[in-house]
Amino acid sequence: MTEIISLTIDSIPVSVPSGFTILKAAETVGIQIPTICFHEACTSNALCRICVVEVEGARTLIPACVAQVSEGMIVQTHSDRVQRARRTILEMLSSTVDLTDSPEILAMMNDYHADPERFPESNPREFDLLDDNPMYVRDYSKCILCWRCVQVCAEDAQYTHAINFSQRGFDTRIDTFYHITLPETTCVFCGQCVAVCPTGALKPKRQWLLETGYSPIEIMSLTRSKRNGNKSRIQPERKLP
Ligand code: SF4
Repeated sequence: MTEIISLTIDSIPVSVPSGFTILKAAETVGIQIPTICFHEACTSNALCRICVVEVEGARTLIPACVAQVSEGMIVQTHSDRVQRARRTILEMLSSTVDLTDSPEILAMMNDYHADPERFPESNPREFDLLDDNPMYVRDYSKCILCWRCVQVCAEDAQYTHAINFSQRGFDTRIDTFYHITLPETTCVFCGQCVAVCPTGALKPKRQWLLETGYSPIEIMSLTRSKRNGNKSRIQPERKLP
């Protein structure tokens, strides 16, 4: 028989089965905790920390996407300390990553009054756009390293292991083994990585070409790779302002 755990979230009594995360328990009473790296189809790893909450008696803030409920727990999901932490996380992300294609994160910045100019001396993470296949492009200047694409490519869904983390520290990025092109890897172009990417770092090639200024007819021709001798690499010469 499943044990039922009773706790309090934002002063609301909550009873959920043991094993529930704080995030899931909060949802049962209509409390929304913001998430970025969390995705229902992926294993949670608490990488982005935007879902942190304050738990009475805990020294540090706790990531709600992985922390499980316990009997008598008292949780605050929107205290001053929590909001300050979320605001700082958003400001740090904004200082290093191109978030222009991340509407959900931009909305959070608005909600938390995050200042995109808070760290003016930071170094933006900039990478050349990778266009090495007819299906999708990779723009890691927009990547927040949430790991969702790596997980769906691996044990969470596809078991192809075409991509993973590469480098260390500030230079960490998602990459293929030895930086080879995607067609040379085990990638089967299932598109699941593109589907779970929250920032536009992975984008369908046709969408990218449309945004870049190509007409639908040109796009049909350019992405018919085999008939074009597999010349899938296209330079974004016509980038719109
Ligand atoms: S490419 Fe997208 S899904 Fe992959 S780690 Fe970066 S932001 Fe996350």
